[in-house]
Amino acid sequence: MRLDWLRPPARIEIEPLGPGARLRVCPPCLTEPLAGTARLSADGGRLVLGRGGRQGGAAPQAATRVEISGEFALKGASNDPLRLRMPSPLGVRAEGGRLLLTARISLEEYVAAVLAGESGGFVSDEGLKAMAVAARTFAAKFRGRHAAEGFDFCDTTHCQDLRLAAVTDRMRGAAQATEGELLWWEGEPAATYYHANCGGETEEARNVWGGPRLPYLRRIEDPYCTDQGRREWSAEITEQEMRRALDAAGLRVPGGLNAIEVGERTPSGRARTLRLRGTKEVIVPASQLRFQIGRTIGWDRIKSDLYEVRREGDLFLFHGYGAGHGVGLCQAGADRMGESGRDYRDILAHYYPGTTIGLTAAGLTWRALGGERVDLLTTRPAEDGPLVTLADRLVHEAEARSGWTLERRPRLTVFPSVAVFRNATGEPGWVAASTKGGVIRLQPAATLRARGSLESTVRHEILHLLIEDRADPATPLWFREGVVLRLAGAGREPRQRPRPTAAAPGNLDRALRHPAGPEEMRRSYAEALARVDSLVARHGEARVLAWLERGGPPLAGG
Ligand SMILES: [Zn+2]
Ligand SMILES: [Zn+2]
Repeated sequence: MRLDWLRPPARIEIEPLGPGARLRVCPPCLTEPLAGTARLSADGGRLVLGRGGRQGGAAPQAATRVEISGEFALKGASNDPLRLRMPSPLGVRAEGGRLLLTARISLEEYVAAVLAGESGGFVSDEGLKAMAVAARTFAAKFRGRHAAEGFDFCDTTHCQDLRLAAVTDRMRGAAQATEGELLWWEGEPAATYYHANCGGETEEARNVWGGPRLPYLRRIEDPYCTDQGRREWSAEITEQEMRRALDAAGLRVPGGLNAIEVGERTPSGRARTLRLRGTKEVIVPASQLRFQIGRTIGWDRIKSDLYEVRREGDLFLFHGYGAGHGVGLCQAGADRMGESGRDYRDILAHYYPGTTIGLTAAGLTWRALGGERVDLLTTRPAEDGPLVTLADRLVHEAEARSGWTLERRPRLTVFPSVAVFRNATGEPGWVAASTKGGVIRLQPAATLRARGSLESTVRHEILHLLIEDRADPATPLWFREGVVLRLAGAGREPRQRPRPTAAAPGNLDRALRHPAGPEEMRRSYAEALARVDSLVARHGEARVLAWLERGGPPLAGG
């Protein structure tokens, strides 16, 4: 996605926030640690990179594309200062004296960032989940709007407003709880428009934008956002301001602007057209005037098209209800529905009548099962019930084996098919599970059982959760994997295990992170285990486990 799509900055500063921040100054170059602040600026189409102290340091260097990865603060962009921890690098290049910033984030992180941008004030978790499904579906429907520019989504309301810097765990939680779910209409993702507040009645989409009639974007009454009164607003716009907005739109009213009247109204009562009166009358779409006023004098003035307008002296007085275009989901109402105990499926069914919610067009949906220590999300609750008991037992075993306590309550998400698992996690089909942010994502239990790897996979991932809570962020991956594999061996003596080879630890981490195939993955795991076993043979298990909290063994590779 593109950051700062509307107003790309001319210069930015990147400040490393940890030892993991790295810089790549050309596409084929190796990455190098980012030691101090890097300053990037655009000189026409040329990217200029300055490093080191304020005035001193190395001479500025020209580049075509720079990538920054790891954890860093981005200053000079509009979300300033934006602290980022990018799973894949932030790319920067120059064009026309501006810096173009492209970030690759997962769909779920994107959804969480949209919630931060659009739904930061939500009180209800179910309302937030409904918005997560709407935002994800909107993304699935309209991906490709920016294909010609070389990215999928911009960061403005053109696509969806988003704020990477303001994502909270609660927003990530709403994205995760509905992971991969979309709203479907006749086998395709629905056009899930949403707005801030409908003022009592939503609007049919074609009354706002024209186009064909979409039954799920019809006018509905909303008793929820109005249960404590309709949201009212008023605005005073001077004749001069109004002229400025009309000029910007290239609209001239002959003889000066004397009066504004609502011409036609939509069935929900929104202004569709306005009559602007001078010596002659000019008719303009109400949405166009709202857009021009927003652009020239501010978006917080005329908040919706649901209003009355009159003239008083030098002023045009607007009095109206709601906020936004009024099509689709009303965010204020969705939040109130959630607060009153309705779940996110009810909310989506209310605002998008006739759609089905599901991971696929066939409408498979998540069901939650709760165990003693774990929660499980599945589309087949009857089949996967026993998995809850299994996972509960494995949590107890892992705690007994390691001597540690699992503080959080892990969630297992069992995907209905290998294809959906691959889509959601981005992992290849030969990877059985993926654990991120306290969630263990699994291939279908039947698939893993058939391979004889269900129990070992769940045990492995639970041990990872136990270890990731404890490990210092700098701990090498091979050490974490080796410890997990050793603890998973549950006390069996490492008799026939291979001896460690002399490969550089950095290479092993790379192979573990991005194995070329199942064979390399198996070899890398065996090597990680062999190294940890040999460390334990020399230093004892208690000391080796304690190293996790200190970033790994004192000398990498032992
Ligand atoms: Zn866009
Ligand atoms: Zn409403």
